[in-house]
Amino acid sequence: MIKLYKQLLSASLVLLATGSFAQQIKLSTEVQQAMQQVSPDDIKALITYLADDKLKGRGPGTEGYQMAVDYVVGQLKGLDVKPAGENNTWLQTVRLRKAFIGDASLSISNGPSNSTSITKGKDYVVYPNPLLPQVSVKAPLAFVGYGISEPALGYDDYAGLDVKGKIVIITRGAPEKFSSSVSAHVMNASQILKVAAQHGAVGVIMASADSSARVANISRGVYSIMDDKGAVSVSRTFYSKQLSLYASINYALFNSLVQQAGKNLQDVLPQLKAGQPASILLKAAVSASLNSTYQDILSYNVIGKIEGSDPKLKNEYVVHSAHLDHLGIGTPVQGDSIYNGAHDNASGVASVISIAKIYHNIKLKPKRSILVVLVTGEELGDLGSNYFAKHPTVPVKSMVADVNTDMPTIIAPLLSITALGAEHSSLEKQVAQAASYMGLDVEPDPEPKQARFTRSDQYSFVLEGIPALHVKYGAKTADGKNNLNDFVATWRAKYYHKPQDDINGIFDFEAGKKYAQLNFLIGYLVAQDPARPTWNVGDIFATK
Ligand SMILES: [Zn+2]
Repeated sequence: MIKLYKQLLSASLVLLATGSFAQQIKLSTEVQQAMQQVSPDDIKALITYLADDKLKGRGPGTEGYQMAVDYVVGQLKGLDVKPAGENNTWLQTVRLRKAFIGDASLSISNGPSNSTSITKGKDYVVYPNPLLPQVSVKAPLAFVGYGISEPALGYDDYAGLDVKGKIVIITRGAPEKFSSSVSAHVMNASQILKVAAQHGAVGVIMASADSSARVANISRGVYSIMDDKGAVSVSRTFYSKQLSLYASINYALFNSLVQQAGKNLQDVLPQLKAGQPASILLKAAVSASLNSTYQDILSYNVIGKIEGSDPKLKNEYVVHSAHLDHLGIGTPVQGDSIYNGAHDNASGVASVISIAKIYHNIKLKPKRSILVVLVTGEELGDLGSNYFAKHPTVPVKSMVADVNTDMPTIIAPLLSITALGAEHSSLEKQVAQAASYMGLDVEPDPEPKQARFTRSDQYSFVLEGIPALHVKYGAKTADGKNNLNDFVATWRAKYYHKPQDDINGIFDFEAGKKYAQLNFLIGYLVAQDPARPTWNVGDIFATK
């Protein structure tokens, strides 16, 4: 009941916002005409090339990915976009490290009797360390719930518990009272590791709250990005040398450790959901030792710029990002092993190139400059964008906003939108203005539990303090049933992350045009606004 009320409230706020920002924008004839020139046929041609079998699914480090890089650079050159990568090139080198676990063992001393002999691959998995080829660690255990420390939001799993020198056990989740994007943020692996390190922990063990789940199979390797000095720059399984162990355990082992401390998961888990921390020092200690081996792979982000017209504001950038990589060649499905990624994310790249084309057709450029950033390694955990946001080829403070595009799902007419993350910043204004101009409704996120805000590249910019958003489809349908989510769910089951996501799938290229126009307009309005975007006062992301 409370949840429903909240949803209604936020829906009406959005409508209110749309109303109050509406009718404010006027576009020059030139801009209007340039927007009209976005071509569904061009979008189709771009997707057709990028999703062709000869690009073999655009796996980072493969020839197919290089073909995609060459192709988009050629497109951008043709639209008079200028290179803005390293040393005046189009590229930023991304050093991917694929780490494999060699010998690894984990044992629990002083533990519950039924867990003294635990099996690797069944009860637990130890992740390779991307920096240290050999690690051994022995430390007492502490259970720290969700591993969240947000005292300002009234929740701190670490309050009153000294975990210095201890290995912390964390189960992924967030209190029910947290909003969807705040939940997504605190549940993000990098954030969990950072908070554990800040509290002095020496290792993190992720514990499954699902009794039917198996521990992950990591035999195909775990990716990180190294910097040019050989340090780990981006990783979902490593934070610093201090946290030398990252492992996960299954529900049964988790439960027995908690039971030994006199608690029960059937009580603890609902308690955490209700917003009451249940942290406790455990009697058991862990010893682990592991060997890691590495395979280093070079991949590239593509970066271009369109210079703004204001002598001062042109030193600031509005970023349009999209990931260029996909899953490469993998397990065959119905006899096809090439994961073409036509929707995911050839369609997003086509959208960004269409935006560059609009700017090409505008003589009077916007006040701010536009940065086109096509990244690698999104499918490996937003790695390429994270590296770019941490080591941008323009000053980090010069990037005022990121408008990201990942799999717009152009499978039906675009009638309403959800702007993931926009509610955290002043970007909500430009979203409302652009949507209103295009005759599109703005809806709140229909699937907050999917944590979509942290599941693509916009989040990498957010982590560096840059307001960002990612426009997804809303639920509105032409027949008034407004159940587009059902259609998307059916589509997703058949195509998402499958070799079947190729050019023979379902497409609405007219919707692709509208989507590109809308994203252009949001970015254009930001680029024209004398005021730079700001986080909302007191917002969780405002602290950066
Ligand atoms: Zn994907």
